[in-house]
Amino acid sequence: MKLLEERIKKDGIVLPGNVLKVDSFLNHQIDPELSKAMGEEFARLFGDAGIDRVLTVEASGIAIGVMTALTLHVPLVFARKKKSALINEPVYTHRVFSYTKKEYADILVLQKFLPAGENVLIIDDFLANGEAALGLAKLVEEAGSKVAGIGIAIEKAFQPGHQRLLDKGYHLEALASIASLEGGTIRFTAEDLGGGHRDYNCYRRCPSRRPEAAVGQDARLRLPARPRHVRGCCGRAARPRGGGSSQYGRAHL
Ligand code: 5GP
Repeated sequence: MKLLEERIKKDGIVLPGNVLKVDSFLNHQIDPELSKAMGEEFARLFGDAGIDRVLTVEASGIAIGVMTALTLHVPLVFARKKKSALINEPVYTHRVFSYTKKEYADILVLQKFLPAGENVLIIDDFLANGEAALGLAKLVEEAGSKVAGIGIAIEKAFQPGHQRLLDKGYHLEALASIASLEGGTIRFTAEDLGGGHRDYNCYRRCPSRRPEAAVGQDARLRLPARPRHVRGCCGRAARPRGGGSSQYGRAHL
């Protein structure tokens, strides 16, 4: 998502330990317009998955989660990181290791807010090792519902979370994918791959993309069955592969 990538470039600060600080628009001060655009983009990406509910974890996932839920016209529920005295009903809970705090937290959701038999969309702000997303997925599955997708605002594709989620078979979408933070420089996956891709989603869906052009774990990205083409994003036409038809059988224009 171009808007998000541009904002990250402009306001993101790289901290030691491969941490990207985006507290001026996502993690502390929140840009409502950008959050709205991100929610709409998640709703577009998962719109045909029959989502019944959006699940996120406090606190930074709430703004983008609520914008997604608003666009999809479904409820948002957020997992709490601390049990309050007011929680005296049955809960689903799972222990996750926090990437930024370097400590364990027992995330929990009241069982009544995660009914069985639903399609649940998980939304979070960052993907690093995948602990938070996998913990949320555990809650959904324990409740007897299905993880219909995982939407991440900013994934750090050079860390293990991306591949861990794909290995579990989840439909993962990231609005911005960072290939590297080395030397304090933010490099996006799409940029690294060249080819004039407008942003990460353009790169992922472009039928002209050759598998060997992909870096690292991205070579094994699983693409959705019915991809939505971003019109005119890189101006490339479908490149015939193997038997002569493109992966999606239509031009990417
Ligand atoms: P994971 O559970 O995938 O290891 O890490 C994701 C969680 O850790 C997110 O919910 C987010 O709060 C936090 N996180 C991980 N990496 C970063 C980062 O680079 N910047 C910020 N601000 N938060 C991060």
